[in-house]
Amino acid sequence: MNYDFFSPSQISFGWGRFEELGSLAGSLGTRGLIISGSRSLESNGVIEKLKRQLIRSNITSEFITTISHEPEVADVDQTTNILHHMGIRAGDFLIGIGGGSGIDLAKACAAMVTNQESDTVLDYLEGVGRGLKLTQPPLPMLAIPTTAGTGSEATKNAVISSHAPPFKKSLRADQMIPDLVLCDPQLACSVPPDITARTGMDAITQLLESYISCRAQPIPQALCLQGLKLAVSGITEAVEDGTSRSGRENMAQAALLSGLALANSGLGMAHGVAPALGIHCQIPHGLACAVMLPATLQANISVRQKEYAEITHFIAPELSLSEAEAAHWLIERIQSLNDRIKIPRHLSELGVTQSQIPDLVASSRGNSMSGNPREISDAELTQILEDLL
Ligand code: NAD
Repeated sequence: MNYDFFSPSQISFGWGRFEELGSLAGSLGTRGLIISGSRSLESNGVIEKLKRQLIRSNITSEFITTISHEPEVADVDQTTNILHHMGIRAGDFLIGIGGGSGIDLAKACAAMVTNQESDTVLDYLEGVGRGLKLTQPPLPMLAIPTTAGTGSEATKNAVISSHAPPFKKSLRADQMIPDLVLCDPQLACSVPPDITARTGMDAITQLLESYISCRAQPIPQALCLQGLKLAVSGITEAVEDGTSRSGRENMAQAALLSGLALANSGLGMAHGVAPALGIHCQIPHGLACAVMLPATLQANISVRQKEYAEITHFIAPELSLSEAEAAHWLIERIQSLNDRIKIPRHLSELGVTQSQIPDLVASSRGNSMSGNPREISDAELTQILEDLL
């Protein structure tokens, strides 16, 4: 067995630890370039507080931009341009604060600003463009997650979309893992219930898909079990009471664990189809994962019954079930979580139509789908999506 395990150099986790931002960021440089993933973080004073914390530690800052949608090629190119025009100098570092969208934009810009063989990120994305490689290390990067979902704070990719032509692809390199992660679960208390629900199910999907992926490895699998235990109890608590400390802590920890896991193993069918649902049907990433998850588990039970049972025995040790019963229990548990937090069962409830299925199938063949534990043919995927309509 040969494998590598990548992770941020430092993870600082804890309720209220945003207060320590200035002292932590000192290790990264002397000027923080801030990219935010939510206008709420400006209106509720978090960005102002961030700047104050930096000043207290003699770190200057520049607010670069806020992104309020999942990042597109043009967002990365324009923001990189702004950074070039400002003049990047020694001691600069990027601060990505927000959900996956803000952190991914910051990660992509940290890489693009130091890699100038092309002036568009398109040329560096997997599977599209010119296939250029990142040869220079990105700017140092501090990631501050404010949703508990994608785990992007701990991964080596940034997901970038385009509508014409339609695609959602990754910019990926080992050096893109943020250097420092400051994960303060309290920052997610302002996330509304529907976004808490769908981002939380993204983390659960990542934990399950990493555990059963054909590229699964022992370290990521160990992280997945702990993450699932926390998330399966934490998600309803966080959705139903957004200020619940234990709910927010459990989900922030689970999302972080899911990022560490997915950065070092594969994913699967749910994450294969989710970008297609994002591009063709404008469905937010976490919601797409959540709707696809029960069908994904069902599609893989024939080759992963043992792994499903291992998860069940870990998260619900009080149950005394056979392997087959425990595997089915897991699928039912996930469906009941989805139902409780109001994730729709059917794609048609999200506006997906029969005529979109061929495009969805064609756009589902990315890096994530290649991690699914068994081959899913186009015909089978078509049937799965039709059954979900
Ligand atoms: P998001 O970043 O788009 O945020 C969702 C919503 O939450 C936005 O409206 C945002 O304004 C709001 N929000 C964020 N923080 C808030 C706060 N503290 N209070 C109130 N509102 C807040 O959603 P996401 O699910 O976190 O990220 C999705 C993106 O991440 C997608 O593009 C997806 O493809 C990508 N992704 C990346 C990775 C990776 O490893 N790089 C993994 C999975 C998904």
